[in-house]
Amino acid sequence: MDNKTLDKESYEKMFNLTREILCAFYFNGEVKYANSVFNDVFGYSNVDIEEINMFYIIHPDDKSILNNAKLVNKERREIKNLRLRCKCKDCTFKWMSWNIKFDWDEEVIYAVGQDISNSVELEQTVIEGNKKLKAIIENISDALFICDNEGKYTKFNKSARSMFPCMDHYGSKVGESLKTNTYYDLSGSLVNYEDIPGTRILKGEKIIGYRIMRSGKDAIFYDINASPIYDDKGNFIAGVQCWRDVTKEMRAKIELENNMRMQEEFFLNISHELKTPLNVIYTTIQLFDLYIKNGSLVENRDKFHKYINIIKQNCYRQIKLVNNLVDLSKIQSGFFKLHLSNQNIVNIIENIVQSVSEYVETKGLKIVFDTNIEEKIIVCDPTNIERVMLNLISNAIKFSTIGDEILVEVFEKGDNIQISVKDTGIGINEVDLQEIFKRFKQVDKSLSRNAEGSGIGLCLVKSIVELHGGTINVESQIDKGSKFIIELPNKTIEVPYEKKKNINSKIETINIEFSDIYS
Ligand code: ADP
Repeated sequence: MDNKTLDKESYEKMFNLTREILCAFYFNGEVKYANSVFNDVFGYSNVDIEEINMFYIIHPDDKSILNNAKLVNKERREIKNLRLRCKCKDCTFKWMSWNIKFDWDEEVIYAVGQDISNSVELEQTVIEGNKKLKAIIENISDALFICDNEGKYTKFNKSARSMFPCMDHYGSKVGESLKTNTYYDLSGSLVNYEDIPGTRILKGEKIIGYRIMRSGKDAIFYDINASPIYDDKGNFIAGVQCWRDVTKEMRAKIELENNMRMQEEFFLNISHELKTPLNVIYTTIQLFDLYIKNGSLVENRDKFHKYINIIKQNCYRQIKLVNNLVDLSKIQSGFFKLHLSNQNIVNIIENIVQSVSEYVETKGLKIVFDTNIEEKIIVCDPTNIERVMLNLISNAIKFSTIGDEILVEVFEKGDNIQISVKDTGIGINEVDLQEIFKRFKQVDKSLSRNAEGSGIGLCLVKSIVELHGGTINVESQIDKGSKFIIELPNKTIEVPYEKKKNINSKIETINIEFSDIYS
């Protein structure tokens, strides 16, 4: 068969059957022959073809490809799949794949071409898509790890590399991070090799929302999703792990849970605080009622003073609680206003100490005032500063035992005035030190035996001090005592100096603020 030749007419019949472009053009670009597919693909007429130059229809950026092909084609071989963009009649370009043969004797180029615009477009879409996918995987904030069926890591994205900087990234195996890290699950159990997501996906397990904590200077919490990936035949081809840093969320959750717990404790405590004085008042009134009913009112007259004091003390306790609750909610909603004026702060603090000293002594304690300044005028709200001081002194009384001493000091310290209340009482645990200023926080109730309290006093104190532009801190040691240190800005405002009301008008305030100390 191969030896047989076709006549011209048969050749033409076959030529007309092909869907490929067949053309021949001279080295100078003039077209020698072009089949009808050439016209169909590019939209040229036979007249156009007479006039066009093949080099003119090649995209300017691709011309060098053909020239280079010609230059290197020393051995006069065929060149296959030469990709060039060629211009159509409507001036758009089509991607063509050409098989070319140079005839150096005739100076003619024979070319067979196919329109591959669609597949090139598709190819480019796939390449672009892959690029985008790679960029997304590389840059997502979640850490991605991909391992092969032997557990050898084949891919880490940027977050994964920075999450485990000590790890030898490529070629390392599942479990490698256990060499330098310790993990715990949320129940506090140690996560060992068998439990880590890498090991589990190698066994075919799919993991959704597994949370672990990486211990260290700052604990980090991760939420992990991981999955084995199989091919069509069900063979394991890769294991993908996605680790998300959820430390912020977990901290907020823990904080919220703590707050909820504190609120629950608070409501329990507050209902006790509200009920106890009411019960006492009610019982005393019932006693009066009984005296009236059985006619022993006159007979029991001597006890009246004591009973009235009990009622008063418990009314004060209720007032303190309600005042504190109202003020705290006013502060939180931004409605609490200070009545600021220029005041001699040394005088205010000394007067408070003087006015409570008799009471403190009745508790078997001693209170001492000390300062290195005679007078210091600063801007403050005297009524609220008194409240702050009474709160701190009442705590010092509550958590001291007979024979202890309370020291109140006022010092000038740089740009601030430092006021401190120091006691030699039971002290505060280091863990609780920063907590006590939080709303509703009370350290173990069993420690605060000799007093009642709602756990909002210090929160209110802190808020009032901060509204003055000041700070409050505490230093404490168990069984040695505590020192609360307030720093107020040493500054005045442009209003006249106001003389503070005298000690007697404070008695009611003291009665209220000290009402939760047992008589
Ligand atoms: P409370 O009304 O319960 O006293 P506070 O907010 O005033 O509420 O105090 C919160 C907690 O801080 C107290 O329950 C107590 O455990 C602790 N605390 C405050 N002051 C002292 C102190 N001087 N010594 C020891 N513990 C204290």
